[in-house]
Amino acid sequence: MHAIRQAVLRQAMDTEPVSPVKQDEKGRAAEEIFGKHVFGLPAMRKRLPKDVYRKLARIIRNGERLDPAIADVVASAMKDWAMEHGATHYTHWFHPMTGLTAEKHDAFLTPTGDGQVISEFSGKMLISGEPDASSFPSGGIRSTFEARGYTAWDPSVPAFIIPQPYGATLHIPTYFYSYSGETLDRKIPLQRSIAALSKQALRILRLFGNTTASFVRPNVGPEQEYFLVDSRLAALRPDILLTGRTLLGAPSPKGQEMEDHYFGAIPGRVMSFMQDLEIELLKLGIPAKTRHNEVAPGQFELAPVFEEANVACDHNMLCMNMMRHLAPRHGFVCLLHEKPFAGVNGSGKHNNWSLSDSEGNNLLNPGSTPQDNAQFLVFLAAVLRAVHRHAAALRLGTVGAGNDHRLGANEAPPAIISVYLGEQLAEVLNTLVNGNRSGKRKRSVLEVGVSTLPPLPVDLSDRNRTSPFAFTGNKFEFRAVGSSQSVAPVNIALNTAVACALDDIATELEASLASGMRLNAALQELLPRLFKEHMPVVFNGNGYAQTWPEEAARRGLPNYDNTVLALEHYCDPDVMDVFLRQNILTEREMRSRQEILLENYTKSVCIEGRTMAAMVRTSVLPSSLEMQCRIADVVIKTRTVTGEQTVASEESYFTEVRDHVKALQKGVESLEQALERIDHITGVLEKAQTARDMVLPAMAECRGHADALEQLVDDSLWTLPKYAELLWIN
Ligand code: ADP
Ligand code: MG
Repeated sequence: MHAIRQAVLRQAMDTEPVSPVKQDEKGRAAEEIFGKHVFGLPAMRKRLPKDVYRKLARIIRNGERLDPAIADVVASAMKDWAMEHGATHYTHWFHPMTGLTAEKHDAFLTPTGDGQVISEFSGKMLISGEPDASSFPSGGIRSTFEARGYTAWDPSVPAFIIPQPYGATLHIPTYFYSYSGETLDRKIPLQRSIAALSKQALRILRLFGNTTASFVRPNVGPEQEYFLVDSRLAALRPDILLTGRTLLGAPSPKGQEMEDHYFGAIPGRVMSFMQDLEIELLKLGIPAKTRHNEVAPGQFELAPVFEEANVACDHNMLCMNMMRHLAPRHGFVCLLHEKPFAGVNGSGKHNNWSLSDSEGNNLLNPGSTPQDNAQFLVFLAAVLRAVHRHAAALRLGTVGAGNDHRLGANEAPPAIISVYLGEQLAEVLNTLVNGNRSGKRKRSVLEVGVSTLPPLPVDLSDRNRTSPFAFTGNKFEFRAVGSSQSVAPVNIALNTAVACALDDIATELEASLASGMRLNAALQELLPRLFKEHMPVVFNGNGYAQTWPEEAARRGLPNYDNTVLALEHYCDPDVMDVFLRQNILTEREMRSRQEILLENYTKSVCIEGRTMAAMVRTSVLPSSLEMQCRIADVVIKTRTVTGEQTVASEESYFTEVRDHVKALQKGVESLEQALERIDHITGVLEKAQTARDMVLPAMAECRGHADALEQLVDDSLWTLPKYAELLWIN
């Protein structure tokens, strides 16, 4: 083994778990820690005058506009609370289209002019900000002379503090938009999609005689997968440091085949990290609930309890930040990339999604009375219609260079968006559809609003894992999101598409009722028709089967199996229309997003390409050439000693190494040419296509030879930590 690797490996293996729990927090129950770092309702109630608290609580609950008159009072209480928790600075925390979060810290201190300072934080500073954020991607929305982005407080997500060694920073969740009022983030469209969904869902509830619900909101529980790799080993891998994944690496002789890691005992150092993470998340009011080992060695999962979509999306971003931030304390780097290692499972994020009304009723719960069942069937029909009609929009919520390694790679659902309902529910729908189709009697076997649905299993474990969108008893689980991605895009698409479908359904039902029809009769007429129309999107079979793509094509379901192809459809009329119709995004905003996502793709692929080229030239080739020389020496010596003209086995070893070296040299040249070519292309789409069609294949070619060489070269010459070390040392 190479001396550097050996030294680092020893350090890694000798690392003891560090106790994450501070003395004063040991054994404290979660209730005591929960929300300690959050200026949420309990802190507000304690610190705000009653009338202000009531107003603000109502604004938060109903998503109303902020009354600027109370901003100063709230700001002052927030500042006092934050300073008591050690805060010296505040920041508007926003989510530019980079896919990451952004912050710019300002101190509370303000000079008074007489050589002293006071701490200041006004209502204006709370509700609006103007970070000079001109370098964030805007997809051409902001011209350079007005390159400013603005931030505005989102009171629906509580402000929080992040402790730092020399004082904490108060983080205020904010929206991010341009001077001309266009959205530059994902929070604004998400909020709009939630409002649109609420408006349409309420129309349905009213038809069912519900006069009390004041809103409907989506709930989201994102399950987060991640890898932990020893940070000292990772430091020897430029690919892990720069791209978050390994670009080279032969398979470990032992991978995930024994399934001994999955749900196994959690290693000590990992457990410390998990506990540390949980404590910090609980303090931030993020209800971290479940932790376990995942399928691949070195892979783990964290699941929080679901929250309202807007809060859940922000919390997931915060959770990813905390994972990256806390891992080094435990001697790890946390990899959120979708495919950190070839040959073992990648990481995804399951977006559990349901709808509940202002009284806490889950609208995706089938219920037990015929009336509840009927209402459930309407929402189910809406979801099927949404997914069937707007599959492309949903697929676009999962695009990214990293996720392309997963979708369709038989470890994650395919890129074809279909719905899994389970046998029983599918049977119910068939009965409903076919009962009507037979036409023998007006009444179908299943009489909507009169018959009761058979009990449906709340299926916890034995569900179809190959489906991208599965009904799991009282919620849907969207499984195609990548582990590093924000869940906002997919929720924006889902909420908007379902809002459109509910809009269509409500319009038709309202017309039927206006013409004197009874609700049940209108449903009996409408539902079978809807289920029949959208049944092609229901697929309970094996999504990994070779035949599924063909079958899906016959059903007319799109299969955009890579990011660039999907993005080409971003502004197709049927995709665009759904966002325009519900006023979620304007055409200009859509086009700018398409451009940003294409640029992101190209940049990611090119960074990977450049990193790989550098590693090949400065690590793999030098080690391999050294090996080649050594074998040549051996060949010559053997010939001299034995007197034989040919020494077959030594020579074939030499040839094998030399052929791979030659091919790798050629490969890296084509990779560099492809990268250079992209620099000369101006169109964003063409750049992305070239990245996909030239850079990625050149990288695959290089990798093949580099990995072969890794298995041929003397281990003491190989400087890059190997898969076995990266995956199994924790
Ligand atoms: P799994 O078997 O996939 O781990 P679980 O039932 O344990 O599924 O739930 C996983 C996630 O689903 C958790 O984040 C949980 O909070 C969330 N979840 C549960 N019920 C709902 C719901 N009604 N709406 C949204 N998310 C939910
Ligand atoms: Mg799940």
